Amino acid sequence: MDHDNLSNLYRQAILEAGEDPHNFGDLLRPTVSTELHNPTCGDVIILQLKISDHIIKDIKFKGQGCIISQASASIMTDLIKGKSLDQAKKLRIAFSQMITDDHFIDNDKLKDALIFKGVRKFPQRIKCATLVWNALEKSIQHVEETNG
Ligand code: ZN
Repeated sequence: MDHDNLSNLYRQAILEAGEDPHNFGDLLRPTVSTELHNPTCGDVIILQLKISDHIIKDIKFKGQGCIISQASASIMTDLIKGKSLDQAKKLRIAFSQMITDDHFIDNDKLKDALIFKGVRKFPQRIKCATLVWNALEKSIQHVEETNG
């Protein structure tokens, strides 16, 4: 196991979002609210979205867990706010490719989320980094099914 890279990842996560996560809290009357758990680590994420005209107008999360899950939620919510549902889905796919595909080529659209590139070497931590993105996917699915 490559301890240097794992500690680098933690350091980056702490720098980016650890102590003061962005978009933490509750939305007033969210369009959709999704709660997901990562039992292997104990992470809990509750993601709330406010959507109108297929645009994610506002997004907030709360919950608890390791620094990786919290930092990923902070960065993801920053990235997704103001995006269309289609853009959000594309970003989720890009994030998923980044952390599973060794031949991934940096996608600038992922911005700060690129710090999680190294997580693919640590399968235990992949679930922490993807938890909030899975909550996003589930939220979008719910909205599309409800409106469709
Ligand atoms: Zn975790």
